[in-house]
Amino acid sequence: MEIGGFQKVTLLDFPTKIACIVFTKGCNFKCPYCQNGSLVLNTEDGDLIDLEEIFSYLEKRKKVLDGVCISGGEPLIQKNIKELLIKIKSMGFLVKLDTNGTNPITLKELIDLKLVDYVAMDIKNSFSKYDITVGGVNPFVENIKKSIEILEETNIPHEFRTTIVKELHTINDILEIGKMFCPKTKYYLQNYEESDNVIKKGMHGFSSLELEKIKNSLKKIMPNLIIRGI
Ligand code: SF4
Repeated sequence: MEIGGFQKVTLLDFPTKIACIVFTKGCNFKCPYCQNGSLVLNTEDGDLIDLEEIFSYLEKRKKVLDGVCISGGEPLIQKNIKELLIKIKSMGFLVKLDTNGTNPITLKELIDLKLVDYVAMDIKNSFSKYDITVGGVNPFVENIKKSIEILEETNIPHEFRTTIVKELHTINDILEIGKMFCPKTKYYLQNYEESDNVIKKGMHGFSSLELEKIKNSLKKIMPNLIIRGI
């Protein structure tokens, strides 16, 4: 298990829960707008966080924290993800998983074993624009479709979400994404903001006015669409 980051508390990432975040290292995508560039690109063993330290922190926070968010990088490329979740669940915590949906077999296994309580899956773009959005050829289209199907067919609470970038996303792309799942499913748009840790600088988010326009154009067709931050 390669853990590259740990955030002790979050009130924002696990809906209605107080949680911490474990960031796994490495990803099978290289999205240019990725906010965790150092986790994704730096796959040297150097600065890994010792899991025992995290377990010891969790042991002391059982009465304060409801859950643990497993984020990344892409958590489902980690070999021992199942064992990690078994340990966290055995300590009594709820688990939220962030994933890019490229590994439906592991996703299904973790859901079937009741090792996850909430899943947030990124849908990066309409499938015709996935390659430019994830920084290279995307060989995972069928896997991503399968992961969407798994989340929609199981009772696991879940959301889909897209980070929108001016250079990569249009209203039509968002409409295409909306056709991939049931209109009742929670779907979040997150506006891109550049930070020092992004993989490629020079991309832009939308202005508040543009976000309002997107929201108004889509609200009848996608009633469950929420734009975070407006
Ligand atoms: S945004 Fe997510 S899927 Fe894309 S490179 Fe970063 S961690 Fe991987």
